[in-house]
Amino acid sequence: MSQSKPKALTFYLYIAIHIAAVVTLFFVPFSWDKLLLFGVSYFFMMFFITGGYHRYFSHRAYKLDRIPQFCMAFLCMMSGQKGILWWAATHRDHHLYSDTELDVHSPVQKGFWYSHILWIFNEDTMHYNPKKIQDFGRFPELRWLDKYDWVPTLIYAAVVFTLGGLISNHGFWSGAFQALIYGYACVLLTCYQVSYTINSLAHVFGKKRFDTGDESRNNWFLAILTLGEGWHNNHHYCKSSVRQGIKWYEIDMTFYLLYLLSLVGIVKDMRPFREENTKGIVVGAKAEELVAQPIE
Ligand SMILES: [Zn+2]
Ligand SMILES: [Zn+2]
Repeated sequence: MSQSKPKALTFYLYIAIHIAAVVTLFFVPFSWDKLLLFGVSYFFMMFFITGGYHRYFSHRAYKLDRIPQFCMAFLCMMSGQKGILWWAATHRDHHLYSDTELDVHSPVQKGFWYSHILWIFNEDTMHYNPKKIQDFGRFPELRWLDKYDWVPTLIYAAVVFTLGGLISNHGFWSGAFQALIYGYACVLLTCYQVSYTINSLAHVFGKKRFDTGDESRNNWFLAILTLGEGWHNNHHYCKSSVRQGIKWYEIDMTFYLLYLLSLVGIVKDMRPFREENTKGIVVGAKAEELVAQPIE
């Protein structure tokens, strides 16, 4: 895959949004309730990114009925990380070509900044091969969401803005803009940067438990920040597993929440870390192929 120059307009717009949110923070007075709004919003948004985009749509680590599936797609796309079909198809390529020349974001091949952020602006990665995601691409409602990928994040911004204004004691507009900054802009930008570290840092810093043939690492610090995604070497070893922290001390908040959702019947058929056949021989852990097959 050739490395083309980033698209100038989207690149600079993206940088401008980052700077604007950080600068604006200095003009919005600090308060504990705004920090709480940020923390709770960050937690749930990160959960939808890891539980939705990654473990469900990319790896089918568990099953959802059709309506919860649509809700999960909508909820994870509130984070503004493009469409679920683009995200999952691109991520499946990462596993297929991990840390080779064909990897879309390998720090080993192209360095920190390219693997962290610049790859998103590469012309080659802006499109995906629908054949890589036929399993979910067959749902028209998911194709629609993927096409209009700006809709969920804008609706989320509008809801935060409106609710912030309505419950504010300092007037509608002041409350609305403060909620928009702490509950939306800062949350989105933090989620962008933290989730990018799995592509950039989790292929460089940490420990390798399994020989996966690539540079994926387990990193406890990134696992805390990303609600479990930092157990990245475990994940590369068994990508279909719903849990990525496999020891009791490997905290994996995404798995714990998915487990709770399974208790009430929303999440179904969670796939285990190692699949063993009747003779106790491990099968399907590493060799399994992520190919498009009908879900049912
Ligand atoms: Zn990886
Ligand atoms: Zn993955």
